[in-house]
Amino acid sequence: MSRQVDLVIMNARLLLESGIVHGGLGVTDGKIVLIATDEHLPRADKTIDAGGKIVMPGLIDAHAHIYDPEMPQHEDFVSGSRAAAAGGVTTFADMPLVSHVMSTQSVNEKRTRGEKDSVVDFTINAGMIDPSNIHVIPLLIQEGVAAIKAFTCRPFEANNGVLVLALSEVSEHGGHVIVHSEDQGVLDEFAKDFEGEWDAPVSHALSRPELAEYLAVSQMIRIADQTKGHLHIAHITTKKAVSEVEKAKLSGILVTTEVCPHHLMFHRDEMNRLGPKSKMNPPLRSKHDRAALWSALLRGYIDITVSDHAPCPIEKKTVGEGDIRKAWSGVDGIQTILRVLLSEGINKGRLTYHRLLEVASKNPARLLGLYPKKGCIGIGADADLVIIDPKREEKITSDMMFSKCGWTIYEGMRMKGAPVQTLVRGVSVFEAGEIQINPPLGKFQKMGGGFLLGEN
Ligand SMILES: [Zn+2]
Repeated sequence: MSRQVDLVIMNARLLLESGIVHGGLGVTDGKIVLIATDEHLPRADKTIDAGGKIVMPGLIDAHAHIYDPEMPQHEDFVSGSRAAAAGGVTTFADMPLVSHVMSTQSVNEKRTRGEKDSVVDFTINAGMIDPSNIHVIPLLIQEGVAAIKAFTCRPFEANNGVLVLALSEVSEHGGHVIVHSEDQGVLDEFAKDFEGEWDAPVSHALSRPELAEYLAVSQMIRIADQTKGHLHIAHITTKKAVSEVEKAKLSGILVTTEVCPHHLMFHRDEMNRLGPKSKMNPPLRSKHDRAALWSALLRGYIDITVSDHAPCPIEKKTVGEGDIRKAWSGVDGIQTILRVLLSEGINKGRLTYHRLLEVASKNPARLLGLYPKKGCIGIGADADLVIIDPKREEKITSDMMFSKCGWTIYEGMRMKGAPVQTLVRGVSVFEAGEIQINPPLGKFQKMGGGFLLGEN
């Protein structure tokens, strides 16, 4: 067979759902049209020799704060999507930061910006849910914006009544509600005990105890059980909360959850050394909790990994030196998420390639209803791919980062395993440390109605 295709990737170790196989694939019109051993690959206009490296479906990051019309100095589709491409992320779901995205107008504004500026594909999460906008949920779902954020705590606290109504809406119309779960009452009470100790960054973590997450997650699970709506717990951080999710899944409640690279990488005893950069919500936890997160990720009780990329200008961090309460909560992550999974996961035996494929690509694609168009190497799938060198050792420095913020919490760290090339629909967007394309080609992806993730 010598069928001509647009692109061939050969001499690869393809990470398929069935395992790793040696060979290559062919791409025409941006889609994978064949998978074969090297000797059976057709001729192509362009050939990439993967040099025996791993080729996996590009990462899908379901939670990244890329663009907020009120805070364009934090990140935008230009810088954020470049950081994504350099991190092996081929589709991200933009998450509201401070501006509400609860109307077709606000969705369309983001979509237009993204299609002008993004070098990778993207979709849009809505938020934040409050009593005035519950009625918009079915409309948003119909428009392909089927993941809607809510908070149990400030600054966007919704009470249980509102959360019951929101979960009832997704139960009826599809989609899911993403809930930042920390109990506000507990946060308020614990914060009082830290008067005079705010100069120590770790006080941020200690003033937001595990109990706040445990209570909010437990309560949200009861609401999901009652309403039969798909609950997605955002950025889970503690052993106790994971155990609640585990029990809920085993009893058939439609709940999924996610974990962030910073919670897998760091623990709270490092906060005083790391300084205000290490402030985020929920905060860093104990080593014990960190171990529980890796274990649940491996065993299948944490469904997906997300970056929760939320950087800021450095001044918003340094202002917290002396009083951690003044610092911005959030860190970079979209360019380093795959590196953390490789360096701390695969290379330390905490994660298998099979689970890496599931948690970073396949499951987020299923959650967002994009699978099998995205999230797998299969015939007919978009050729969204990342070529990985699992042995490559690199020191992370801010000058290799594409984020607008100009700093990284991973500064100076040595990591083993890195994305070396990223393709979106068959076009190389990142290679040799550089963005390869101009103009951008990112397309808005409508979330589909599949939502298979919670069903098994
Ligand atoms: Zn977030």
